[in-house]
Amino acid sequence: MVDVASNINLSPTHSKDAIQMALDLAYKQALSHTEGHLADYIPELALMNPDRLGLAVMTAKGRLYTVGDVNEPFTIQSISKAFSYCLALELVGAEKVRARVGVEPSGDAFNAIEFDPVTRCPFNPMVNAGAITVAGILRDVYQQDAFEKVLERFSKAASRQLELDESVYLSEKATGHRNRAISHLLCASGVLAEPVDEAVDLYFRLCSIRVTATDLAIMAATFANMGENPVTGEEVFELKAIRDTLAVMYSCGMYDFSGSWICDTGIPAKSGVGGGVIGVVNRQLGIGSFAPRLDEKGNSVQGVIAIKSLSDELGLHTFECSNTGSSFVEQLIR
Ligand code: GLU
Repeated sequence: MVDVASNINLSPTHSKDAIQMALDLAYKQALSHTEGHLADYIPELALMNPDRLGLAVMTAKGRLYTVGDVNEPFTIQSISKAFSYCLALELVGAEKVRARVGVEPSGDAFNAIEFDPVTRCPFNPMVNAGAITVAGILRDVYQQDAFEKVLERFSKAASRQLELDESVYLSEKATGHRNRAISHLLCASGVLAEPVDEAVDLYFRLCSIRVTATDLAIMAATFANMGENPVTGEEVFELKAIRDTLAVMYSCGMYDFSGSWICDTGIPAKSGVGGGVIGVVNRQLGIGSFAPRLDEKGNSVQGVIAIKSLSDELGLHTFECSNTGSSFVEQLIR
């Protein structure tokens, strides 16, 4: 892994530009919102310091903006689902993945024990049932090296070597009966192949990868930059797989709050119970936030407020008239 710290293009601190000002405002707006609770169904997560707030933005050209606790480590949890799904799409193709995991919003909790009544498959890859099936696909491809291989790809997206948080992993492994139950049901209906326990173990490990808000912003910017890490210039993910991943993040990334979220922010996103959120503004920027108090749906209270504020201030909503995105049709006409 290249040491990229010196490659990161920090935003100028002398003359504050619009992104830094919007980020500072988002931080200020979120800071007083100390409502919500740490996730405690994974005992180790209940030990986090709740008073942390970090926001980071990386543009698709690699300029980094930060405020607050952006170097504080925490576990990626469900945000891993987006990157694992992208990888599975690339490795075995969308058709094979779609045959086992749907792309419909479930409108239900992330850990619900429910499957599509017609296909018997998980509703989508952003809920636990879908992500465990995706882990099964990754495990089939990479066999016993699966965790190392996937970690390597996540690390390339973050532009630094990421690591497993062993205590969170062991804590989730010791208490993750519900996820094990889901995996055995998936196996019974033929969606998840044996060895089931290996698939769940990979899922637990992927959720327990330690990241920072800065890492998440770079990973999100890698998605925004069509798969090329803007810091290292390395191709990390395939564009077609990113397209499908962002589409599912758009409709299913924020648990059963996804509809309100997308109306309010217009930013494909994914959150995790470790307190992280990523947002991807296509071709423009990646957002990473960390604030561990969660609302009743499982989303970071302060992360939601801050990213909504950023979207409003910078006009990032997909359908905002200020967001011209990649207006290639106009270029074709010219
Ligand atoms: N590892 C967590 C679980 O399976 C992830 C949940 C989440 O972040 O949504 O319960």
